[in-house]
Amino acid sequence: MNLSKLPVLSLSIILLSLTVNGCTISNKQLPPSPEVTQEQQQKVLTSEEIHAKVLTVDSHIDWPYRQFLYPDFQPNIRHQPGEIDSGQWDIVRMEEGGLDAVFMSIYTVQKERDQGGHERAKAEAIKMIEITKKMAQENSEKVEISLNPQDAERLEKMGKMAIFMGMENGYPIGKDISNVKLFYDQGIRYITITHSKNNELGDSSTDKKQEWDGLSSLGEKVVKEMNRLGIMVDISHVHDDTFWDVIKLTKAPVIASHSSARSLENHPRNMSDEMLKAVKENGGVVQVCIFDTYIKKLPQTAERKKAMKTIEKEITVFRKGKMSQAKIEALKEKYRQINEKYPKNKPTVADVVDHIDYMVKVMGINHVGIGSDLDGGGGVLGMNDVSEMPNITKELVARGYTEEDIQKIWGGNLMRVFSEVQKVATEIQSQETSEK
Ligand SMILES: [Zn+2]
Repeated sequence: MNLSKLPVLSLSIILLSLTVNGCTISNKQLPPSPEVTQEQQQKVLTSEEIHAKVLTVDSHIDWPYRQFLYPDFQPNIRHQPGEIDSGQWDIVRMEEGGLDAVFMSIYTVQKERDQGGHERAKAEAIKMIEITKKMAQENSEKVEISLNPQDAERLEKMGKMAIFMGMENGYPIGKDISNVKLFYDQGIRYITITHSKNNELGDSSTDKKQEWDGLSSLGEKVVKEMNRLGIMVDISHVHDDTFWDVIKLTKAPVIASHSSARSLENHPRNMSDEMLKAVKENGGVVQVCIFDTYIKKLPQTAERKKAMKTIEKEITVFRKGKMSQAKIEALKEKYRQINEKYPKNKPTVADVVDHIDYMVKVMGINHVGIGSDLDGGGGVLGMNDVSEMPNITKELVARGYTEEDIQKIWGGNLMRVFSEVQKVATEIQSQETSEK
């Protein structure tokens, strides 16, 4: 807040209402005054008020895959954060965290790249889409499946939360381009070209070696088809060469649904300054990924490493969804004890906002957003689950970001790109009809 900028009249209003109320006031109680512009009023909002007021959107939460593995998880019940089986998202905690909209990630683990493997992945993706829709149907008083940017605004006004769907890994498309339309029709609004391994569409940033020198020729067709249908092209996880191929080819702005800055943490999953600048040029948005080792890789104590080694195998079995409830309970207890004795050295919300700051410096305020990767490995100290989202806003306010800035970071930028992608699709489609 900058008091010196407030006109004299509004100061007298503040003083007057202070006398009337005799205690603390919020700007919401101020009578409307032509002297106080909207911008000036916004400056006095607290971080909590800003968080409640702006549309908050998280572009990447991996709940559908957890639910696929553990069908007994009840998303409408509040789970105690921090347990091995509590997950990082449920409807109750989403509401607590003041998150208005989320892109649920329809993520498939990559196995054989043959017809059988592709068909299995397609069936799994369809199953996870069904799981997500069923969750929304069963909790229709709280959430609704959303397909367009306007849905999020509409639902926020109704006090409901928007559930969008994005697909992480183009693997379920296999070699069949008609699957892009099939997934669009089922509600998918972004597709991450690859996950951590190369697929039929292109090279990943974390596979052992390159296979396609970027996008494959099928990958090129898929990007064009996504432009045509109005699916956002997500360049998180892809190899730098794939990224540059997409940037050259795409007719619509791109997104990185969960990617951070390589200059702050040198990881191939993060984006170089040149890539960030290219996304700015392209009109797109990069959503900071709140994943500890991409934010700031910190050393762990030898004691923790040793202790974690003792439950490593069990955790692998658990993550594959192949553990009985009794065994989960035993594992939970062991995990709890390890965390108590040898807590994990994790980056903080301030470290996350360092990435936001840096990206805003490189790209400008109109191209940065947030994609937590919760339930997919995301989480830092102070942002361990969806209920802690307000801590990000708090840190942004502390660093001097205005309400307008925060509105852009928390979803405004992503929704602008989403609208633009739909507009481009309409143009492409109307061009096609006029050519026929
Ligand atoms: Zn990911």
